[in-house]
Amino acid sequence: MSEKIKILGAAGIPKEMVERLEQEIGPVEVLSSDSEEEIIKAIQDKQVFVVRSKPKVTAHIIQNAPQLKVIARPGVGTDNIDRKACEERGIKVVNTPEASASSVAELTIGLAIALLHYIYPTCHSLKEGKWLKGEYTGKTIEGKTWGIIGFGGIGRRVAEIVKVLRAEVLAYDPYVPDEEFTKRGIKRIARLEELLEQSDIVSIHVVLNQETEGMFSEEVLHKMKKGAYLINTSRGKVINQKALGKALEEGYLGGAALDVYEVEPPMDQELLSLPNLICTPHIGGSTEEAFSNATEILVRKIKEIFHIKETAPLGS
Ligand code: NAD
Repeated sequence: MSEKIKILGAAGIPKEMVERLEQEIGPVEVLSSDSEEEIIKAIQDKQVFVVRSKPKVTAHIIQNAPQLKVIARPGVGTDNIDRKACEERGIKVVNTPEASASSVAELTIGLAIALLHYIYPTCHSLKEGKWLKGEYTGKTIEGKTWGIIGFGGIGRRVAEIVKVLRAEVLAYDPYVPDEEFTKRGIKRIARLEELLEQSDIVSIHVVLNQETEGMFSEEVLHKMKKGAYLINTSRGKVINQKALGKALEEGYLGGAALDVYEVEPPMDQELLSLPNLICTPHIGGSTEEAFSNATEILVRKIKEIFHIKETAPLGS
């Protein structure tokens, strides 16, 4: 273990993460706020800065961090970090998108099962004293066609689980080589429209970029089968929320489940109150396991950059 690597931690980084960083890499100073002034003062002798979705790591901070080599972010988004300023100074930015794949995939499946089996409305009404046994007839996932959009870490994990539920799995992702589909026995669909026309359940797992922002417009939503279900645990801006509300309200779609929204927290009460929509507050990656995976992966990636050897397991 190197004695020389000093780490700065953003305010609020988990205690367990601080402990692991100190065990494996070096001393950690945790900030008390997100203030730029405090960061610049504390970062002078630090080689690593571990952040969350906050603070904003501006070019000004980066230019005033003479020892900084790595900015590490447990989780996915690095949009709070000025990547251009990092590139100019040769500072590496690492994150841990792989840490939460199972967590988000499981939530996706859970939302689909909840939708198709009416778990939310029946639970809610039973708690209000109503026994509505005869009023809801659900559907199974078995025998349906499930279309996956975005065949990265989360999309692939969803595909694995859906196969076990005995649905046919189709996937659309123009940026993934053929072999990733074939070796998993997943049918690749070349055009988004074709996938939507064939799928009873569609789940979205794309990254948000210029191409995917607003991907699910009113027109695209109407390419889905009538009565189909849509699940989005990726990024809210991939779907035009107003158009989704309309498609649900007029009964074109059977139902939808959202974990992410155009604006978070969402303000659109009209959408949230629709009976065929179920919703969660961006909790896809919020599991104990996703958090501890993120810590382990982050520590490993920082160690690789500084060529720190893995510690031998106890007893060896
Ligand atoms: P990933 O980078 O592994 O996979 C994303 C895939 O999207 C890639 O394979 C890419 O080729 C594909 N893609 C890009 N543009 C596309 C397009 N136009 N059409 C189809 N596919 C396209 O990412 P991931 O780790 O699987 O994450 C997927 C999404 O889930 C991301 O948006 C991420 O931000 C989100 N996420 C949400 C939560 C949550 O709490 N709900 C947690 C973690 C990740």
